[in-house]
Amino acid sequence: MAQLDILFTGYVGERVAGTVSLVRTGNLVVVVDPGMVPERSAILDPLAALAVSPDAVTDVVLSHHHPDHTMHIALFPNVRVHDHWAVYERDVWTSRPAEGVHLAPDVWLLETPGHTPQDITTMVATDDGVAALTHLWWHERAESDPRAWDLGELHAHRARILELADRIVPGHGRPFAVGPDTLR
Ligand SMILES: [Zn+2]
Ligand SMILES: [Zn+2]
Repeated sequence: MAQLDILFTGYVGERVAGTVSLVRTGNLVVVVDPGMVPERSAILDPLAALAVSPDAVTDVVLSHHHPDHTMHIALFPNVRVHDHWAVYERDVWTSRPAEGVHLAPDVWLLETPGHTPQDITTMVATDDGVAALTHLWWHERAESDPRAWDLGELHAHRARILELADRIVPGHGRPFAVGPDTLR
């Protein structure tokens, strides 16, 4: 089973920061959404505390293309970068749809447009169940999305993810458990 750690818990308000996560399984070391944070150390220090060097990170997944989720990709010199339609490695751009792509048996991608047309969700099977790392929720109490590209798509994909996930890691907040009160 994959190990999931939250490197930084995002927020929105006067300032904005993205939730940054680390997923490890087998030889795979993935940072999801290395975006806006107060300073680089907000990502690098928690990584160091887990004994992971930036050089050892193998992959970055971007939930979508906004800078609050992409700003710090270049902290990691050796990565493949995954988004909704391609994998990027050094100067090689390999097009592919993200839907159903497995980075490992216990880490896979789903296309979940709504916030933008390019949103994807990273699914992670852990010992505590399946976590969905996604911008479909900004945070646990986000009833909707004031910046959504398409609210119909957003809520349809929320419903899809709630069928699959036990826990949500939202774009700008703490992880939360899926339950009867989870906003759809
Ligand atoms: Zn965004
Ligand atoms: Zn965001």
